[in-house]
Amino acid sequence: MTRTLADAIAAQIRAHGPMDIGAFMAQAGAHYYATRDPFGAQGDFTTAPEVSQMFGEMIGAWLADIWAQMGRPARFSLVECGPGRGTLMADILRVARRVDGFLEAAQVRLIEMSPVLREKQHETLRAYDFIHWHESLEGVPADAPVLILGNEFLDALPVRQFRRGAEGWQERVVCLDGESFRFDFGPPEDALLPLLPAHTVSQEIYEVSPARLDFIRACGRLLKSVGGAALFVDYGYTKRAAGDTVQAVRGHRYADILDAPGESDLTAHVDFASLAQSAESDGMVLFGTVAQGAFLRALGIEQRARALCDGAPARRTDVMTALHRLTAPQEMGDLFKVTGFGYGHDFTPAGF
Ligand code: SAH
Repeated sequence: MTRTLADAIAAQIRAHGPMDIGAFMAQAGAHYYATRDPFGAQGDFTTAPEVSQMFGEMIGAWLADIWAQMGRPARFSLVECGPGRGTLMADILRVARRVDGFLEAAQVRLIEMSPVLREKQHETLRAYDFIHWHESLEGVPADAPVLILGNEFLDALPVRQFRRGAEGWQERVVCLDGESFRFDFGPPEDALLPLLPAHTVSQEIYEVSPARLDFIRACGRLLKSVGGAALFVDYGYTKRAAGDTVQAVRGHRYADILDAPGESDLTAHVDFASLAQSAESDGMVLFGTVAQGAFLRALGIEQRARALCDGAPARRTDVMTALHRLTAPQEMGDLFKVTGFGYGHDFTPAGF
C-alpha cells in the first residue's frame, strides 16, 4: 500500500510538476486514516478522549449547559467532526443521559471519511440508534439547531507553506529527486497571498490553511442558518508566528514527513487567531480561546477526578496520571487550546 501511494504521488509530480504541501498532506492523510485505527499505545498516537473518560465527561457537561442556554430545543444535531474511535461521543452521551431531555432531543451526526474508523465508531456507539454518518459538514441537514464539536480534527486538515525572500513570496513544494521526495520552493498561488502576514522575517516559513478556513466558514454558514455553537480542541498557537509546524508521527515518535506517505500521521499546529478572525468576520460570536488545562479545571475535572478516586481507590494512580496528562502545562494542558463560537443565542459559555 505504501508503495502504491508513494508511486501515485510520484506519478502526479512527474505529470504536473511539484506538489504543494497541502495536496501532499491531504492524500497522505486520507490514505493513513482509511487504512487503520491509529490510536492508543499499540498505535501511533493517543488523544485526550483515549487518555481518560474525564475529558469527554467535561465536554459533555459543557454541551448540556449550552443546550440548556439554547432553551432546550426538542430536536438538535450534535455534530462531531473526526470522531476517531467514537470514544469522546460515547463519554458525552453517557454523562448527557443524566440531563433531562438531552438524549431524546439529540441526533448525533459524525463527520468521518475513513471507512475503518466509521466501522469502529459504529461498534463503540452501537447502544444508540440515533447516530448518522456524513462525508462532510455540508451533509448535515439545516433543519434543527446544531452543536458542532471536534477534538484533534483541525490539525489533520492540510496547510500550505510560504517564505518571502528578495524575490518575493515562494511556496514550499514537494518534488522528485530520482525515486525520493524532497522539499523545494516554487511560485506561489496568487489567490493565497492575501492570507499571508504583512510583516515577515525574511526566509522564515509561514503557514496558511485554506482547508481549515473553508471548514470554519462551513460551520459559520450552518450556524447562521439554524443557530447553535461550535467547540474545537486542538494543539496550536494563539499568536501568529513564523515556523514550519508540519509533523509526522508514527509509533509515538516523530518520523520523516516525506518518507512513506500515508503511513504516518501528518498534522500541523492550528493557528487559532486566524480561525477566530475568520469566524468573527462571518458574524459568529467568539467565546475565546483558552488553554485546555484551564478549560477542564474550570469545568470541574479536579472534582471529578477526586470522585473517581473515592469510588475506586485501586484506580487512584491511573486517574491522577490521566488528570496530570490532560491538564499539566508541560503535558497537554498548555499546548492544547479550546476555542468556541456561537450564533443566534445569548450564550454565557462555561470555561472561557
Ligand atoms: N477526535 C478523535 C480522533 C482525532 S484523529 C480523538 O480525539 O481521538 C482525526 C480524525 O479526523 C480521524 O477520525 C480522521 O479519520 C478524521 N479526519 C481527518 N481528516 C478528515 C476530513 N478531511 N474529513 C473528515 N474526517 C477527517
